[in-house]
Amino acid sequence: MKSLARPTKWRKVEFIPNIQYFAPSDTDAASLKENILRIEELEAIRLKDLEGMEQEDCADKMEVSRQTFQRILNAAREKIADSLINGKAIRIEGGNYTRNICPVKCQNCGKGWNESYENFEKILNGEFNCPECSSKRIVCFPSEKKKFCRRGCWRHEGE
Ligand SMILES: [Zn+2]
Repeated sequence: MKSLARPTKWRKVEFIPNIQYFAPSDTDAASLKENILRIEELEAIRLKDLEGMEQEDCADKMEVSRQTFQRILNAAREKIADSLINGKAIRIEGGNYTRNICPVKCQNCGKGWNESYENFEKILNGEFNCPECSSKRIVCFPSEKKKFCRRGCWRHEGE
């Protein structure tokens, strides 16, 4: 078996924060430690703890399993608690987040996977290669459950 680049497991988020850094006001900057909170971890906190949504609905919204949602939420809570109790800064950045998840398929090898809305721009521009065979012949491939997300896709050409 050849080694393959595994497609990223995307988490759908609606909220991208403007404020990305929180720090204790009276700490020496040189000795300040920080926790990195991923964008999808912040989204989990927002949905569950701020919006008060049921866990299942949160998972659906982020298009992850309930177990995955629980894991993301736990990681977020642990980091926030650690920062509040132990006086560490919180930096919010990175993660496997996207504004939407697009089901795509390689026309060359037939591999199907979920790609980020942002990467779909690269696919349209021929700047993205199939993780299985490196082909650029990638098309959107919605299942019954997931419709395509974007205008400008060739599925909608001529509409
Ligand atoms: Zn392929």
